Amino acid sequence: MTRTFTGSRLLVASHNAGKVLEIIKLLEGLSIAVVSASDLSLAEPEETANSFIGNAELKALAGARASGIPALADDSGLVVHALAGNPGIYSARWAGPNKDFTMAMHKVEDALVCLESKTGAVPSRRASFVCALSFAWPDGHVETVEGEVSGQLVWPPRGDAGFGYDPIFVPEGHDKTFGEIEPDLKHSLSHRADAFTKMLASVFGKNG
Ligand code: IMP
Repeated sequence: MTRTFTGSRLLVASHNAGKVLEIIKLLEGLSIAVVSASDLSLAEPEETANSFIGNAELKALAGARASGIPALADDSGLVVHALAGNPGIYSARWAGPNKDFTMAMHKVEDALVCLESKTGAVPSRRASFVCALSFAWPDGHVETVEGEVSGQLVWPPRGDAGFGYDPIFVPEGHDKTFGEIEPDLKHSLSHRADAFTKMLASVFGKNG
């Protein structure tokens, strides 16, 4: 059975200030005080799992155990169907130490072009952004949900409104990339929004 969170304080187990702000915004109105992993100077665990869910759970559990308060963590990335799910959990790593997403987007395109020349067939450009979101308690109990937004990859990249792989991803039912559409629209359609809606309903008991 799903465990419900009834406390008034939680940790966002992330050192990414942008992500922490986004999560604070999503929790607005719930009267919950939020602290981040940076606020508490917590160590960043290595993402050693082989799935989004595994990595989200290990980050949430590490944060809850180290801080003694319930913790939320997410793990997300771009899943390209023709590339056997890559870059997937390695989405951040494809951008290298300098977080060069122009290079990472080129790697995705190059891999599709390479596949086409190997097989002689035009590969599918179907892709999804996936977000696993985990909520862990210090006693080791963990609840996890997964959100997804499906779409198509385009080339060349278009728009500079988002981050990461946004300029090459067109969500289903739209013709602009995540880099071109209004940020508020992206936030309402995104894999993260989908995961949050599911988590608000399960762990926080908030529907709609
Ligand atoms: P993490 O969840 O912080 O490990 O992020 C993984 C990587 O996935 C990010 O560095 C981005 O490259 C990519 N990613 C996750 N969500 C998005 C998104 O909404 N737009 C574009 N790229 C994303």
